[in-house]
Amino acid sequence: MSNKYKILVIEDEKNINNLVSALMEANGYKALSAKTAADGKIIYDTHRPDLIILDLGLPDTDGMCLLREIRKNSFTPIIVLSARTEEAEKVKALDLGANDYVTKPFGSAELVARVRTVLRSTRHSSDNGLLPGGKFKSDGLVIDYDARRVFIDEAEIKLTQTEYNIIALLSEHSGKVLTYSFIIKAIWGYNDLGSTKRLQVNMANIRKKFGAKPGKKNYIVNELGVGYRMCEQNDRGNEND
Ligand code: CA
Repeated sequence: MSNKYKILVIEDEKNINNLVSALMEANGYKALSAKTAADGKIIYDTHRPDLIILDLGLPDTDGMCLLREIRKNSFTPIIVLSARTEEAEKVKALDLGANDYVTKPFGSAELVARVRTVLRSTRHSSDNGLLPGGKFKSDGLVIDYDARRVFIDEAEIKLTQTEYNIIALLSEHSGKVLTYSFIIKAIWGYNDLGSTKRLQVNMANIRKKFGAKPGKKNYIVNELGVGYRMCEQNDRGNEND
């Protein structure tokens, strides 16, 4: 009868598990909960949740292993929830296929927002799996995918091919952080010693062209040591409102 999205919370700390589950229920989702990786896998196999919130420090198996196992044959969105703050851990989780990463302690509103974003973006991309036609719009930024042109407040921003490709890629995954190596592989198809530098130079040029200044809206956020995240799409493009 219920048509709610099912969110599986895999977390061994009782308080956090209860808190996250209650938070999901309060926001209109059906929460399923597991306190070990083994239980999580069983519930995953039997209930096929729409999204998984996965703690990394579990008593039986490391959450990374479960993440890898689930990714072998499924695209079920996974948000990693962890006290591990090292950038290398975030990069590893994202490269293993996590859709997002939330560090403990986290704000309730932040976690709910991430869940909503991941559910929306995965539903969106599963429709066609390709760059969307039409336009991306967010607070004055407009990307016209068919014309391969970018505008801010109706003024065209002249980008190189590579810069445009990076922007299109980030916008396709807006709201989600893309790791440096993910972007490099998607744009250049290979990863060598100069890749990170090349990406940084391109990003610096893009930010300059976008007029990134303190106090001004930044469309692209640099998650230091991890990657880049583009702001989410909204309908406030360059339409007069
Ligand atoms: Ca834990």
